[in-house]
Amino acid sequence: RKPAEDKENDHEVTYFCETCSAQYHANAFWICCDICDQWFHGKYVNIAATEAKHLKEFKCADCIGEEIGE
Ligand SMILES: [Zn+2]
Ligand SMILES: [Zn+2]
Repeated sequence: RKPAEDKENDHEVTYFCETCSAQYHANAFWICCDICDQWFHGKYVNIAATEAKHLKEFKCADCIGEEIGE
């Protein structure tokens, strides 16, 4: 089965954290980078679930670094 087909099926979607390679769990707070579309554990990006609600978009450290030009 192709990965694209998985994404159409909400309860079967599988994401892996770019930081620790753990599999996504709905019982933990995860956040998706709006630039590179990678998923991260909230604890690695220092954003709480309550803060994320106020964010229009989230950029991971890599994408922020690219903008700065490091
Ligand atoms: Zn992780
Ligand atoms: Zn990113």
